[in-house]
Amino acid sequence: MVMNIGSLIRPGQPGYDEGRLGLNRAVESRPAYVVEASADEDVVAAVRLAAEQRLPVGVLATGHGSAVAADDAVLVNTRRMDGVEVDPARATAWVEAGARWRQVLERATPHGLAPLNGSSPDVGAVGYLVGGGAGLLGRRYGFAADHVRRLRLVTADGRLREVTAETDPDLFWAVRGGKDNFGLVVGMEVDLFPVPRLYGGGLYFPGEATAEVLHAYADWSRHAPEEMASSVLLARTPDLPEVPEPLRGRFVTHIRIAHSGDPADGERLVRPLRDLGGALLDTLRDMPYAEVGTIHHDPTSEPYVVHDRNLLLGELTGDTVDTIAALAGPGAPFITELRHFGGAYARPPRVPNCVGGRDAAFSLFTGAQPQPDTLRRRDDLLARLRPWNTGGTNLNFAGVEDAGPERVRAAYTPADFDRLTALKARHDPGNMFRINFNIPPKESAT
Ligand SMILES: Cc1cc2nc3c(=O)[nH]c(=O)nc-3n(C[C@H](O)[C@H](O)[C@H](O)COP(=O)(O)OP(=O)(O)OC[C@H]3O[C@@H](n4cnc5c(N)ncnc54)[C@H](O)[C@@H]3O)c2cc1C
Repeated sequence: MVMNIGSLIRPGQPGYDEGRLGLNRAVESRPAYVVEASADEDVVAAVRLAAEQRLPVGVLATGHGSAVAADDAVLVNTRRMDGVEVDPARATAWVEAGARWRQVLERATPHGLAPLNGSSPDVGAVGYLVGGGAGLLGRRYGFAADHVRRLRLVTADGRLREVTAETDPDLFWAVRGGKDNFGLVVGMEVDLFPVPRLYGGGLYFPGEATAEVLHAYADWSRHAPEEMASSVLLARTPDLPEVPEPLRGRFVTHIRIAHSGDPADGERLVRPLRDLGGALLDTLRDMPYAEVGTIHHDPTSEPYVVHDRNLLLGELTGDTVDTIAALAGPGAPFITELRHFGGAYARPPRVPNCVGGRDAAFSLFTGAQPQPDTLRRRDDLLARLRPWNTGGTNLNFAGVEDAGPERVRAAYTPADFDRLTALKARHDPGNMFRINFNIPPKESAT
């Protein structure tokens, strides 16, 4: 008998499809139950139901990052738990499991405070935070997971726990980077930062200039201060009326900038990129932080099917650039994003966590539609970039093809992965939370 469960939906019942499907339809789950959770108690009841029936548990907030189908599982949909409370005096926000960064931005920015959100305000804050979270202030402040003060989660034993560095340092370490392997987070308290404005936007160059622009960007980024976040997207823009005319239907090399220091410094620092000349569009400007989502202009609400893959690069040499320009430049049937890491990403956080990839100079992300030729050409790019791969990967930028054990292991240092498997054996010995980039329970652990 299940008590106090919000909205429990079986296959064939109204609301089943809305509850099981997210934004990226690369994964289409067919769960035994969808639980539309409205409160912490619903999540507790869902986990207890799964334990009673020996079912695995998965979680869906927005569907920006589902990588494993929650078939025959209990799938907890958290979209109704979208509360955000900002405490301006302490510069913190309490963020519920289903809240998107947009809601955090709406409540924090009127106080001149910025969260460590990522490129898209539509991404779920908690899903992003448990994967590390590489955002537009990351080179200055580090991964978003480095700035979580406390969290509340439901563990495999069906208990609701308040977890901090003081109450349970091991669990606090593991959840910040371990995705949903240790339980379902119902809320997190995160730090906010005094960043009221950005100097940012984009420089869009024609595809023909990809190699020249990438070489110039690689040189320029070597001297960028930590206040300067940047990335480059190589992609064909859609041939749609809402796309600015000079870009419409064209392959473009899009440099994105977010400078969080003095705007005059930002303007001065981007001058060498502007001076390359030939930009089809230049949207760089001083802007309120609330407009941060306009910098990347990520896709918003329409469902799509895309396979995400990434690798972390230790350096961006002339040969790396030539490889990227040749295989991901004009004519490539997939999108590629190069994002500048380093700076505060490389420093261990004040309160340790298991987020890996701190040795990366850049992350390289690809998004591809699952046609065989497209995937083959994308795999060719990734294979040819292996000489510069740190060996690591970032789980927030990974997708359905990266859910196997080898790729999950690559997201952590060997010592951290070993510790994670031991903690998994302690907190989830039956691997109830396995609808994810799975960390298996260590077999020898007691
Ligand atoms: C357009 C776009 C832009 C992005 N930009 C960035 C970026 O700038 N930086 C970055 O680091 N990442 C970025 N990401 C990746 C994103 O952070 C991850 O995909 C993240 O997991 C999405 O979380 P979600 O809740 O929105 O998605 P969902 O698909 O609903 O959830 C994805 C996963 O997050 C985990 N999760 C979600 N909710 C919970 C919970 N309550 N408790 C425990 N685990 C949970 C689970 O593992 C779940 O499978 C981007 C993704 C997209 C599609």
